Amino acid sequence: MSVTMTNTYSRTPANEAGDEPRDWAQALKRGWRQRCPHCGEGKLYYKFLKPRDVCEACGEELHHHRADDAPPYITIVIVGHILGAIMLFAHERSLNLSVWTEAIGYPILGLLVALWALPRIKGALIGYQWALRMHDFETAKRPAADLRPAAGTSAS
Ligand SMILES: [Zn+2]
Repeated sequence: MSVTMTNTYSRTPANEAGDEPRDWAQALKRGWRQRCPHCGEGKLYYKFLKPRDVCEACGEELHHHRADDAPPYITIVIVGHILGAIMLFAHERSLNLSVWTEAIGYPILGLLVALWALPRIKGALIGYQWALRMHDFETAKRPAADLRPAAGTSAS
């Protein structure tokens, strides 16, 4: 009598880490929407810019991200170009905005655009890191939902 061992799981940590490519564009979009890059359902943050350690919907570990200073740098570049274009437009069209309008309006506009863009850019970056298995996303424990038995196999 021989005993055979079969793989009873459709996605084990080993093949998840090495075999299945992740859709980085989809993960980027989910991160931009401030959702879990794995399932797209769970919220990415528990506070403004504070990512959850684990996705509340699928259990994916999210604490492996290393966004660091990249989101603020990217935000500054984007907001700077938007504000620069608006300022140039106002100047070229001779809108004759008062000094006080420009001195107060541009910083407020810049702040609002930055506060809108920063969590989205950070989320997209976290999604990108997750998709490319950067840092410790490669060795992250798989959510329980991913370790379900494969169709047509039994666990016995
Ligand atoms: Zn999730």
